[in-house]
Amino acid sequence: MSRILIIGAGGVGRVVTHKCAQLPELFSDIWLASRTLSKCDQIASEIGGGRVNTAQVDADKVPELVALIRKIEPKMVINVALPYQDLTIMDACLQTGIDYLDTANYEPLDEAKFEYKWQWAYQDRFKDAGLMALLGSGFDPGVTNVFTAYALKHHFDRIDTVDILDCNAGDHDHAFATNFNPEINIREVTANGRYYENGKWVETQPMEISRIFDFPEIGPRKMFLLYHEEMESLTKHIPVKRMRFWMTFGESYLKHLEVIQNLGLDSIEPMEFQGQQIVPLQFLKALLPDPATLGPRTKGKTNIGCIIKGEKNGKPVSRYIYNVCDHEACYQETNAQGVSYTTGVPAMIGAKMMLEGQWKQPGVWNMEQFDPDPFMEDLNSYGLPWKDVACDIDVDSLPET
Ligand code: NDP
Repeated sequence: MSRILIIGAGGVGRVVTHKCAQLPELFSDIWLASRTLSKCDQIASEIGGGRVNTAQVDADKVPELVALIRKIEPKMVINVALPYQDLTIMDACLQTGIDYLDTANYEPLDEAKFEYKWQWAYQDRFKDAGLMALLGSGFDPGVTNVFTAYALKHHFDRIDTVDILDCNAGDHDHAFATNFNPEINIREVTANGRYYENGKWVETQPMEISRIFDFPEIGPRKMFLLYHEEMESLTKHIPVKRMRFWMTFGESYLKHLEVIQNLGLDSIEPMEFQGQQIVPLQFLKALLPDPATLGPRTKGKTNIGCIIKGEKNGKPVSRYIYNVCDHEACYQETNAQGVSYTTGVPAMIGAKMMLEGQWKQPGVWNMEQFDPDPFMEDLNSYGLPWKDVACDIDVDSLPET
């Protein structure tokens, strides 16, 4: 029986709250707090039955967070606000002596750069306080880390290469929309690409390298090499020769993105507009469809997984571990589309691992550092079943067009 505090009432917050509410024997008492109280109340009323209590909080402000946590006295915080709030929420957890979980690593507001260094710097403080912080318990980062740890545990003596493949084939009938926070999404895909090879990071131009991959249950899609945050922790904790991350984008998304970049609307530099300071990317976000409204319109599937190659008992081994998720089924269950669902379910499972004591150790941890088996079992039980198959695909020999 545990009281939890979920912070952030966006798409992911909606899914985490729904999924926690489905497990009353573990999450006995649920609080949802966010900047806009009405969004929390909306989610609480969807769930009904008085299962979810709500509160308003500005998570940029540590004293506000501390006051809320002291009032509620939860066992842990599930942070599904934005990456900008990670450090303030970690500070508030340290001040109040409770555990912490998030789904995305900290990003400074004024610099499009996401790295674990800021959060890893909390390691001693969490350890000394006997508290746990679990970082990146979404899908990618999150499940992809656990897939890799599971592959190492069950199939390999040595992993040589990991290719993480993320395909969202959802169609929402908008010419341009992002499936999660537009500001975060556009910052991620317009950054330079980067992959890990022989102990070094190799930089590419944004979207410079592409391949066509035939995704199971979806079909052929063009995917582009991007940098993605789970590679930083995975390459630190699991020795590999090469690790790359690929994400698919449709023609319409890419066409609009090019225009946005050409116009400078992706800039995060503040500018003067009619006597007011505005940030172009934040202005663009205000114009774009709210990802939370995409749920009822989105049809199709997501497929995210890892192709992993290496050796066991001196013989070459190649596995493909992946999950396929259906947007419409996600919406039916939680009123949210598949990208929020595939992030929110692992956040709930991560919290479950911590509350049940299956993953419990003071300090700051990434997902691959724990036993993958109980988490993999729960993915099957709570809506994200996976397949683990032998695979002879060589990503390098796939066509580019
Ligand atoms: P949304 O933009 O839909 O939701 C974010 C929520 O956080 C909003 O309700 C917002 O409030 C709230 N919020 C923002 N700032 C504050 C603040 N200062 N204080 C309190 N609440 C605040 O984003 P998503 O739900 O799509 O994403 C949530 C998180 O999940 C993000 O960190 C994202 O990067 C991460 N993510 C991780 C993925 C993974 O696989 N690991 C995949 C997708 C997302 P308001 O409504 O008032 O603006």
